[in-house]
Amino acid sequence: MQIARVALDVPLHRFFDYLVPDGELLTAADIGLRVRVPFGRQSKIGIVVELPETSDFPLAQLKSIDAVLRDLPALPADWFRLAEFCSAYYQVPLGEVMLSTLPAGLRRINPPKARQSRRSAKLPPPHLAPELTAEQKAALAAIKDGGEGFKAYLLHGVTGSGKTEVYLRLIEGALAAGRQVLLLVPEINLTPQLEARVGARFPDAGLASLHSELSEAARARNWRAALEGSARIVLGTRLSIFTPLPDLGLIVVDEEHDASFKQQDGMRYSARDVAVFRARERDIPIVLGSATPSLESWANATDSRTPARYTLLTLYERAVENARLPAVRRIDTRLEKLQDGLSGELLRAIEKRLERGEQSLVFLNRRGYAPVLTCTGCGWISHCTRCAANLVLHLADGRLRCHHCGFESRVPKACPSCGNQDIQPFGRGTQRLEEVLGERFPQARILRVDRDSAKSRKQWELLVEKIYAGEADILVGTQMLAKGHDFPKLTLVGALGADSALFAADWRAPERLFAQLMQVAGRAGRAELPGEVLIQTQFPDHPLYAALVRHDYPSFANEQLTEREQAGFPPYTYQAMLRAEAPLMADSLAFLATARAWLQQSEHGDVMLYDPVPMKLARRANLERAQLLIESPSRRALQISLSEWGVALDAIKTPSRLRWHLEVDPLEF
Ligand code: ADP
Ligand code: ZN
Ligand code: ZN
Repeated sequence: MQIARVALDVPLHRFFDYLVPDGELLTAADIGLRVRVPFGRQSKIGIVVELPETSDFPLAQLKSIDAVLRDLPALPADWFRLAEFCSAYYQVPLGEVMLSTLPAGLRRINPPKARQSRRSAKLPPPHLAPELTAEQKAALAAIKDGGEGFKAYLLHGVTGSGKTEVYLRLIEGALAAGRQVLLLVPEINLTPQLEARVGARFPDAGLASLHSELSEAARARNWRAALEGSARIVLGTRLSIFTPLPDLGLIVVDEEHDASFKQQDGMRYSARDVAVFRARERDIPIVLGSATPSLESWANATDSRTPARYTLLTLYERAVENARLPAVRRIDTRLEKLQDGLSGELLRAIEKRLERGEQSLVFLNRRGYAPVLTCTGCGWISHCTRCAANLVLHLADGRLRCHHCGFESRVPKACPSCGNQDIQPFGRGTQRLEEVLGERFPQARILRVDRDSAKSRKQWELLVEKIYAGEADILVGTQMLAKGHDFPKLTLVGALGADSALFAADWRAPERLFAQLMQVAGRAGRAELPGEVLIQTQFPDHPLYAALVRHDYPSFANEQLTEREQAGFPPYTYQAMLRAEAPLMADSLAFLATARAWLQQSEHGDVMLYDPVPMKLARRANLERAQLLIESPSRRALQISLSEWGVALDAIKTPSRLRWHLEVDPLEF
């Protein structure tokens, strides 16, 4: 009787042995095939990971595999190593990693029937490659000189400097060498033109996109094309880092600083970090590109004290001739009374654009009408009953909405507490800004772009088309508008409400603010028309804004890194966060205290344990949340502790409604 060891999607750090059914004989080449097996009273899809000679269990106890699925080639060995790395690094059982990274359609017993491919027939016009600029040439030459083996490059280039063109040339080279390419992007919905651009440049490469908005069947189909080798380019969001690619020869991570590369539930991985591991493991080059690299990557490229060394390549100039970086100026809002949050200078600048038939963008990273509704009589404010957070007023559809748990209710006509009819929105979101600008500039066509107005890809594409077609004069938008777009008539960006990030408790807030403002500034003046960026602030002398005015990412980054080093923050220390949530805070804290005590009494070398504390958003959806930070100057010491801890945590008895997870390299606190 032959035994097959099978990985299953269960939260246990082990595999399961099954008997291979009569008439099947599995060989080493079949390791990596999917199988259907009985598990308890269910049937599950698993992956064959080993064909052991013996089992720890008596053969008579082993159940038999129901079916060996040969509809897909076996998953390759390097895919296994990738899963093993993630399992060890992120402390997630290997079976869970393997199965959870398969497209849903390939791990379900009864996947929905694939509908006919809805691929649109219209092919984009062929995209001609421009003559490279000197800077692009130099960057490409440096990467070519690096050879075909592992090397990590950080391509730092201001918005519009032609990073994408560099990627396209690299892709061209890899395809010509018979290799496959993986191109990771933060949110594909926001960058349909990139997809079009890659598809047009490489019409024969079987471009396969992979992101969560695809239907299950389409995702499975594209994934299969990658595994079978018919797709030579995979363009996808973070989940696509797990696509098996037998001929992988190059990985590109665009906008590598973007927080959406971090998965926020289940296995909390960073697709960028996994990509670097994968490139090293496959011994191929990887290019990380950004106008505002993450400080981790920047340190890796510029700071000799950090271990991983990236090669820094810089594009200083915009690629299109005569396209200048926009002039960035600060408007000191301490000196005047703002009109509905808008300074006279910004209003005049918008007016000028209207006269010239150009577009303006007012950037406010807060959607909704107002962050809270208040009663002027008794001081009542609109709280979410399920979270330690306020309900945001959405006047457009007359709702109060919690941005944390999704709870919503109608806007009350009177104060629920005292009956007073005078309840007022407090503060300002994009909807209110849209209204204010409409009153101010009745002749202007105003378009709001945020997660509410662009819920689906379709809606987003319609909005983008309108902007391109010049059917809007003033755009009001959140960071959605900051990403990857080239609006030729947009010449003015006004930024409101930026200051709040300067003094936030989260020490990563300035990094995010700088990146956002730099990105949004990058939208102005991309073509012939010069751009202008106005930042309303009460802290015009803040060094962050000073660096922004000079478009000086390096000095901002270096200053931040100095501060982080002094404070003992990443990337000069390594962190992991244990979080727990339960109906009662006391239970969450008690679990963390037990976990902490376990780690403290064990040999844990160079690891520092903080105290369990309630999270900033201490209650969400009726669960009370707490966290425990652990930290070490040594990545290795941290990893060793975590691997022992991970197992010990599973053994801690917890109240039935308590949930916990461990996050390595947490980004948010
Ligand atoms: P980035 O990715 O750095 O923001 P892109 O690659 O999207 O920059 O380039 C910005 C604009 O410049 C695009 O319109 C692109 O077509 C154009 N462009 C890129 N490289 C060149 C070049 N060498 N010559 C002329 N135009 C270029
Ligand atoms: Zn009241
Ligand atoms: Zn809520």
